[in-house]
Amino acid sequence: MESIKDCNRKQYQIIIERINWFEKGILELTSLIDDLESLQGYLQEVDKKWRSEFYKDWGLLEEIYSVAVVENEPISTSDREKIAQSVKNLKKLAEDALNEYLEQPDPLILNTAAIIDDEWLMCSNCTDSWKCTSNNAMVICPACNEALHNPRYHIESA
Ligand SMILES: [Zn+2]
Repeated sequence: MESIKDCNRKQYQIIIERINWFEKGILELTSLIDDLESLQGYLQEVDKKWRSEFYKDWGLLEEIYSVAVVENEPISTSDREKIAQSVKNLKKLAEDALNEYLEQPDPLILNTAAIIDDEWLMCSNCTDSWKCTSNNAMVICPACNEALHNPRYHIESA
């Protein structure tokens, strides 16, 4: 069975990537708006509050962009500042959601990374190794982007 949480995790990563592209000037605002709308559409069983906060900031981008297009005017400096703030909020939402995923063991993921030494882990899916000292429940292989259980994670007894 495929993990919905893991599917969402991948969407959050792409959302963060697209926002980084926008912040670096590689992605146009109009493409960011379209991409964010379709990416969030793939998210399943997402907290209502999360989605409404996402829509609030996404809606602001949409609105500023549409008004600029309709009036055929460049986006003002104050609107650019609003855009930058909303984009930051959207990135934070995706980063928080991604971290939340990593903090809880995902029972639908079967692979566990292997410990190489105090700093390095090896992916049991693609055998790539990477430096990772996280104590989260889950880690993500940077080579194949699969989620794995973190062998360094220990459940604190309640
Ligand atoms: Zn891998």
